[in-house]
Amino acid sequence: MEQVCFGIDIGGTAVKVGLFNTAGKLLDKWDFVTRKTEDGKDILRDSAEFIKNKINELHLKEEDIIGVGVGIPGPVKDDGEVLELANLGLGHFNIEEEMRSLTGLNVKAGNDANAAALGELWMGGGKGYRNMVLATLGTGVGGGIILNGAIVAGSNGAAGEIGHILVNEEETATCGCGKKGCLEQYASATGIVRIAKNILSESSEESDLRGKDDLSAKTVFDCAKEGDKLALETVEKACRYLGIAMSHIAQIIDPEVFVIGGGVSRAGEIITETTKKYYNINVMNALKNKEFKLATLGNDAGIYGAAKLILA
Ligand SMILES: [Zn+2]
Repeated sequence: MEQVCFGIDIGGTAVKVGLFNTAGKLLDKWDFVTRKTEDGKDILRDSAEFIKNKINELHLKEEDIIGVGVGIPGPVKDDGEVLELANLGLGHFNIEEEMRSLTGLNVKAGNDANAAALGELWMGGGKGYRNMVLATLGTGVGGGIILNGAIVAGSNGAAGEIGHILVNEEETATCGCGKKGCLEQYASATGIVRIAKNILSESSEESDLRGKDDLSAKTVFDCAKEGDKLALETVEKACRYLGIAMSHIAQIIDPEVFVIGGGVSRAGEIITETTKKYYNINVMNALKNKEFKLATLGNDAGIYGAAKLILA
């Protein structure tokens, strides 16, 4: 029997579980609803129970299981200590110790966005590279930084918060983090819609974006690809801020590749190409012309990265 490991991605609505071999092949995957009851403690109990059931069901032998990697939506210190997981209702605890005692297996935990970056490096858009920045453009903007093949987690596990890099100090609206002018306010799906609405209200020009009650980032990109002028302006603005943020990151860590993921990245190369253009305008000469790629693992990036945490 080949050696295998589990990758668990704990989210606010669902817990995703993947079974991998050491070569990075996803052998099977499942998910179940996140129960936030008992101050969130049921999440770990449910996860451990789920793993134990799968081990029995698949007749896995203990010596064939390398362990369990876990990604959680909050900062995790290197020893597994979690300071607080407010959105899951969990307080201060050590997730690795708890999961180890619940499963009897080796456990390694990390922040979910950082884990997703590691996953993309291992088997996704960053495959073949060792120094990578992932920007995940979804409802918010998340991200992760990988240097020499390892996650840059920082002293408290809070590194790689790309979404809250200041890109516009003139902004008057407040970001979810409490600051004003964060990347997330422009390059997230909600940010892109906000830019579009502002551009529409300031212009009298015709646009296919007008009169749409349910204006979405996807609509903006679809219309931009059709040549709609105001949609193109919106895309340029969002990608300009993203390119500026990436130039700041590059000035410090000089990565090989930028990978763009999240729901918004389904728009495709229009994002990587436009962002690269503004990156090159705003970065010093020696750092120009980095690779810009799309993420390829979609919602599975988190389980891939969690699995890689325990294999690394
Ligand atoms: Zn912010």
